Amino acid sequence: MKLIRLYVIAPLAATVAFAVVYGYWQHERQEQESPNPRLVRDQTIGVNNACPIHHAEMKKMTVTIRYGFNSDKAWVLPKVRIAGGLEKFQDVRKSRFPFACDQAFGDCTISPSTPATAVIYVCSDCVRELAVWQNEKMANQSPQPTVGG
Ligand SMILES: [Zn+2]
Repeated sequence: MKLIRLYVIAPLAATVAFAVVYGYWQHERQEQESPNPRLVRDQTIGVNNACPIHHAEMKKMTVTIRYGFNSDKAWVLPKVRIAGGLEKFQDVRKSRFPFACDQAFGDCTISPSTPATAVIYVCSDCVRELAVWQNEKMANQSPQPTVGG
């Protein structure tokens, strides 16, 4: 009887102990790998609040910083593809919609000293211009149905 109790209680106790230790370790790890919610990266400091292309007053936006290697990929890659290369996209971005991006990006280093949020400038004319450019490019890329003969 005692032996059976040992066979049941010992693995159970070991499992519970492991779960507690593992859970604590995971929690500690997550704490270390989270950016600091009290820190803010202000990307508007030293930047004129008027868009250099549209000369309109830009609005300040507080956004969550996306961390990770190539964290801007999801935002930039479809546009790079449409433009036909990163350099071409950078050129058109600079000349037509420099302040269209409403997101902020960080690299893969996350620690308690990295900010969780950023303050950025977004120009509503730039956002509109980016949409226009994307539509133009998409229309040119997709094969047009021929009308008549
Ligand atoms: Zn603008």
